[in-house]
Amino acid sequence: MSENIEIRARETIQNIQPYLPGKPIWELQSERGLAQVIKLASNENPLGPSPYALKALNHSLTDIHRYPDANTSILRKEIASKLDVKPEQLIITNGGDELITLVSESFLEPGDEIIIPSPSFSEYEFGANLMGANIIKVPLGENYTFNVDTMIEKVTERTKIICICSPNNPTGTYLSKANLQHLLEALPKDVLVLFDTAYSQYAVAEDYTNGLEFVRAGYPIVVLQTFSKVYGLAGLRVGFGAVPEFIIQHILKVKEPFNVNALAQVAAAAAIHDDEHVHLSLQSNIKGRKQLYRALKELSLPFIESMSNFVLVELGPNAKSVYEQLLDKGIIVRYGGAWNLPCHIRVSVGTKFENEVFIQGLGEIMKS
Ligand SMILES: *Cc1c(COP(=O)(O)O)cnc(C)c1O
Repeated sequence: MSENIEIRARETIQNIQPYLPGKPIWELQSERGLAQVIKLASNENPLGPSPYALKALNHSLTDIHRYPDANTSILRKEIASKLDVKPEQLIITNGGDELITLVSESFLEPGDEIIIPSPSFSEYEFGANLMGANIIKVPLGENYTFNVDTMIEKVTERTKIICICSPNNPTGTYLSKANLQHLLEALPKDVLVLFDTAYSQYAVAEDYTNGLEFVRAGYPIVVLQTFSKVYGLAGLRVGFGAVPEFIIQHILKVKEPFNVNALAQVAAAAAIHDDEHVHLSLQSNIKGRKQLYRALKELSLPFIESMSNFVLVELGPNAKSVYEQLLDKGIIVRYGGAWNLPCHIRVSVGTKFENEVFIQGLGEIMKS
């Protein structure tokens, strides 16, 4: 039968590489029959979800026969008041990932160019490939820092978007406020900056910016945030963009009406006000990061100091094998191959106990 059929997919989607998620706990458990599995692969909050969110969810379960609010009015109002932007400057999405797709759909024509620092988050490439845009990769500079001028040099007449992830996944490095301002001012009028601040809450450097001040000032910037990381709601899929009104109108056009489910909306509206949960999470992250740094130094393993909740560790040519051996011990981290970092792994900062198990396991492997 199938020989007579010629269903042709769009050419551009052949360039799409499958996303490689962190291995789920249940999968490793069922593959290897392990009792204890520790996942430090997806930068999730090791303390769990915001308790405010859990309480709100419990109260909302009996309403899920209703469609969600297509305008996400309550959630936008809560985020707006918390972050001092206007509700009209917010678009709520099915995870931050959906915002990246929507921005790509709104602004990229086939043959347009999108500038992406490398290594960085893979979803920018996904959006570009979906639309048939050309990806211009710019390697990060020394110690994986951003070099704004090298990026500006790559701008052509076809450039539509420049992506910046700050703190950057997977390196944990960030772009300073002065450098973001320099970039925004140097760019031609028709280039949009997609500024991904999924980890902004973890960044404490004085010269860090989450980009919102530039949204308020009306620069051509889309600031991405998510409830998946510090707020602990990765499983519900909710994130948002903060965007000047004259730009957001285009993105809203391609959004599906019910893109964010009712439970996600309710949980996020509660979590955004859960200052205690955020505070505890940040404290735990700072301690955990120190714990990892100390152990990595003892093992003489180079790493990049991170402004975030993960650490990029250089293991050398055996990195892939070390990654596999960690899996054998029930410890899931992320192997760097997908970022073209074959000698590295990225480890999320876990609880004290999880970090200990990782350190112990890695120590045993490095000594054998
Ligand atoms: C986690 C993450 C996101 C968004 O994730 P969602 O779960 O889709 O909200 C966006 N950018 C980066 C760099 C991330 O690490």
